[in-house]
Amino acid sequence: MTDADEFIDLRSDTVTTPSDAMREAARDADVGDDVYRDDPTVNELERRAAEAVGTEAALYVPSGTMANQIAVHVHTEPGQELLLERESHIYRWELGGASKLSGVQTRTIDAGDRCVPTPDAVTEGLVDEDLHRPGTGLLSLENTHNYRGGTAIPVDEIAAAADAARDADVPVHLDGARVFNAAVALGVDASEIVAPVDSVTFCLSKGLGAPVGSILAGDEAFVEEARRVRKLFGGGMRQAGMIAAPGLLALENVDRLADDHANAERLAAGLDALGGVDVPEPDTNIVVVHTEDAGIAASDLVSACADAGVGCVEFDDYTTRFTTHLDVDADAVAEAVDRIGDAVATLSE
Ligand SMILES: *Cc1c(COP(=O)(O)O)cnc(C)c1O
Repeated sequence: MTDADEFIDLRSDTVTTPSDAMREAARDADVGDDVYRDDPTVNELERRAAEAVGTEAALYVPSGTMANQIAVHVHTEPGQELLLERESHIYRWELGGASKLSGVQTRTIDAGDRCVPTPDAVTEGLVDEDLHRPGTGLLSLENTHNYRGGTAIPVDEIAAAADAARDADVPVHLDGARVFNAAVALGVDASEIVAPVDSVTFCLSKGLGAPVGSILAGDEAFVEEARRVRKLFGGGMRQAGMIAAPGLLALENVDRLADDHANAERLAAGLDALGGVDVPEPDTNIVVVHTEDAGIAASDLVSACADAGVGCVEFDDYTTRFTTHLDVDADAVAEAVDRIGDAVATLSE
């Protein structure tokens, strides 16, 4: 049971705290100076991470944002265009890093309610280099799609968009911060989702439950260059085995993401039944709640939920995000539905 005074934190799957096993693994990790490639635990994590997404190599980095920004830097030249969907994390939530750190300009595709651009939209967005135009350096895609509510994009749709770029010799990056949520939801191996792209980011610190860290993966040549750019961006770490060891345990948490998805479904069904709020059925562990028809601003819902003992985040004026994770079980979700119901009732009065 969830205690009445226990805060149920559904702001993000990043809020999980490391398990006892992770803390022990950190304490007992074999370590060395990873900038010299001397840390056996980091080396093992990079090998296992590459295996998990079916790439030749992988690089351990402090965050998903850094992984994405390194990928942009490696794939592009300053002045080139980065083609991406207009609701993508790299475009919306990374502080304009692509222009600041890599000197690229972004061209956005409006994919409408889809989460991935059609091949035609990609082709239309690609720019050929000529006397006046800089040329497209990279197409970036996202799976699961965060802002679209954790949507799991089917392999053939990712492949179709990626092929449109690669046919024009433009490389493709996948922001797969939650790519294992996509794989579990689609019932495929993550390597199938990653196969059509040149590089992929995924987070150990989200649903997989590690305290820190993300992975950037691709072929050997890409990862070798990414390692240099990680140093450039200040991400070269020393005895990083201390944080990589929990990351190794996190890789064992892939299958249990199905529990988070089941809990998200329970949460969405419970909230939808409240009436007045619109809650699409989630694919994975992210539940978005639309409150425009109810006339409830997301900022008001977020603070009323906080008062009622539930954490959530504002996505937009009338859209609020709730995320399930390792530290919330079905009981906590049921309790959260009751509390959110009270919060909505207060706001509807
Ligand atoms: C969380 C997230 C990131 C960034 O990861 P951080 O580790 O928080 O920097 C990138 N892309 C997507 C889609 C995300 O959800």
